[in-house]
Amino acid sequence: MTIFTHPEFDGHENLFFAQNGTDGLRTIIAIHDTTLGPALGGCRIWNYADEAEALTDVLRLSKGMSYKAALAGLPLGGGKSVVLADSRRDKTPAMMRAMGRAVERLGGRYIVAEDVGASVEDMDEVAKETAHVSGTSAHAGDPSPWTAEGVMLSIEAAARHRFDRGLEGLAVVILGTGHVGAHLARLLAARGARLKIADLRGEVAVALARELGGETVEIDQAHSTAADVFAPCALGAGLNARTIPELQAPLICGAANNQLAQPTDDIRLAERGILYCPDYLVNAGGLISVARPSTGMDEAAARAKLSEIPATLVEVLERAAAEQVPPGAAADRLARRRIATGRE
Ligand code: NAD
Repeated sequence: MTIFTHPEFDGHENLFFAQNGTDGLRTIIAIHDTTLGPALGGCRIWNYADEAEALTDVLRLSKGMSYKAALAGLPLGGGKSVVLADSRRDKTPAMMRAMGRAVERLGGRYIVAEDVGASVEDMDEVAKETAHVSGTSAHAGDPSPWTAEGVMLSIEAAARHRFDRGLEGLAVVILGTGHVGAHLARLLAARGARLKIADLRGEVAVALARELGGETVEIDQAHSTAADVFAPCALGAGLNARTIPELQAPLICGAANNQLAQPTDDIRLAERGILYCPDYLVNAGGLISVARPSTGMDEAAARAKLSEIPATLVEVLERAAAEQVPPGAAADRLARRRIATGRE
């Protein structure tokens, strides 16, 4: 296993490996960049096939957090931690407290939060050992409404940019109506959008469509349903070699993380004339909410940051057009520029 020549290694500032035999903790904490502030990022508890897979994940995800925080205009850097464990079978309060001690040893350069496999209760255990934690029950709050609002504002801005029209009458397909997708559906419906809804839990989609006056579509047909906007709000990798040729909506803007199965899928979308709004930019509302305790932002300051998302999106879309690169590449460039400016 290589580190400095690893394909996902991007000049990360630090990598920490911690093991606590008594409490079963095995973790890798990656600090990608702290130019703009301490590295905030979730703790993913996952039953990785091996250590190499865990390393790849933590390197990739921590870099993504640097870019996400930079584009959201937050005084934060990017980091991430992975715990090599099955969250349902192996996780214990003692393991989480050991995680808290590992984070504490980094002296605040890394701030841990929830991610896949970790809960608010887990962060409460972490908080018994360190103050460098966000998303505890003391100051958590559900980030989903924030995420949904950022996505709604982004759809509105992208529709203006692409179609020169607002949300009234806009046809939007939402795939996945869980925490974020359901909020998004309600926000869009309140602004007059026409909704088509799909969810693995069919009954949830039916109830929501009935409540909001929308239609339901089958989950495997959502991406190929005729609409103005396709909003992926379920799992990642939904935009791939199979689905991209079948897409019907000329605009993609949704909350799901890692929507592109491959980085080059951005190019495939551009070749089809489909405008893709980079997921990590438009779904940053949750991060803005989670960042409140560690950045000292009050509600008003956090809402101001949230309202900047659409302007940043338009800047990215305009740069992408001017520089003739896909929006994902333009977003990455802007994030790198902001970090470089912070360094000067
Ligand atoms: P969630 O688990 O509450 O909702 C996901 C929904 O997708 C569920 O209703 C589930 O039934 C449905 N689903 C799962 N697989 C599906 C499939 N194959 N086809 C159709 N529907 C499917 O999750 P969430 O918190 O709403 O997050 C949704 C997405 O947004 C995730 O990718 C998440 O990483 C991303 N995201 C969430 C936040 C947040 O604040 N919660 C922030 C940033 C990004």
